[in-house]
Amino acid sequence: MEDKNHLDSNSLPQPRKEERGGDILGARNLEVESQNPDFFVSPDVDHGTMPNLKWPFAMSHMRVESGGWSREVTVREMPESTQIASVNMHLEPGGIRELHWHKEAEWAMMIKGSARVTSIDTEGNVAIDDVEEGGLWNFPSGIPHSIQALENGAEFLLVFDDGAFSENSTFAISDWIAHTPKEVLAKNFGVSADYFDKFPDGEKYMLKGKVPGPLIQNLPESPNKAVDPPFTFSFYDGKKVETEGGTVYIVDSTNFKQATTIAAALVEVEPGGIRELHWHPNAAEWQYYLEGQGRMTVFAATGKARTYDYQAGDAGYVPFAMGHYIENTGDTPLRFLEMFQSDHFADLSLSRWMSQTPPSLLKEHLPIDDDFIKNHLHSDLRPVVKWGRSAK
Ligand code: MN
Ligand code: MN
Repeated sequence: MEDKNHLDSNSLPQPRKEERGGDILGARNLEVESQNPDFFVSPDVDHGTMPNLKWPFAMSHMRVESGGWSREVTVREMPESTQIASVNMHLEPGGIRELHWHKEAEWAMMIKGSARVTSIDTEGNVAIDDVEEGGLWNFPSGIPHSIQALENGAEFLLVFDDGAFSENSTFAISDWIAHTPKEVLAKNFGVSADYFDKFPDGEKYMLKGKVPGPLIQNLPESPNKAVDPPFTFSFYDGKKVETEGGTVYIVDSTNFKQATTIAAALVEVEPGGIRELHWHPNAAEWQYYLEGQGRMTVFAATGKARTYDYQAGDAGYVPFAMGHYIENTGDTPLRFLEMFQSDHFADLSLSRWMSQTPPSLLKEHLPIDDDFIKNHLHSDLRPVVKWGRSAK
């Protein structure tokens, strides 16, 4: 996108638009400026005051612990994001995210490596499963769980159905026991109070561990029935929509039955392709960019719009019902997640809407011709589009 910026004699981008603007004389951060070319020299359609809808995970505090690390994007980092919060977490081989629970539901996608997740439901049924790349889990609100990385470690994205969530305020097993009188623990478990003398004196959060053996040899002492429907799923078992410009996998409660509060789409946009102009009638959209680079213009009605650039590792956000598109601005595939606080994925396509409107009515609004209506609108589900050179 650098061609849009005026380059000075030192090949540095400068905020100039034809006759307007001028060179920066004082302090500047070239790396951040060049990652955000549409902030630096915005498209002319951008207008009005818009909220910040971008937060790179690289700007979040990294919590470095025994066994791994985590960093989060919540309403504190991206104030518009009231419906969704997220944590990017890494566990070394055998590393454990401590047994815990929280008020919010937790949806997750494995990005690299694999992990074993363990949980129970309110009927006392047991859930233990290994999750590979592209694999998912969903623990409903209040359901306890832990995550342990297998032999190659694990890196994953956790998504919570409340923007105010914090990974630093979960109910942890070590913390609870540390804050219960020892004589009460003695009564509860039928052992003497001094049995608890060597227990941790507070939350562990994350810990080192040995890589566990095969699933079948790693069961509770007397397991109950398995949780059904399971807490785990895979994007690749979701609804697949293939188009000329890319592929979309949709996972929500219609296929992943346990995901009753978080819906997701994994979108792959080929170079030259675009996640078409659309909006969502049910929830705001929280985004995570997995690979490649893209840009999005968010239309906020009343003439307001702004264009945002994204790289792998960034979070993005679209406030409820606002119109948007995501264009692949690189020469490699763009992969990102669309996440919604909802039991189902839903979108409305501008092209599809126009295709289902009487041509005479459309022509009253916009100066379009019959060729446009016949050959450039689609009535089918086609979330990603890519036109040949002829369409330019
Ligand atoms: Mn959790
Ligand atoms: Mn969208």
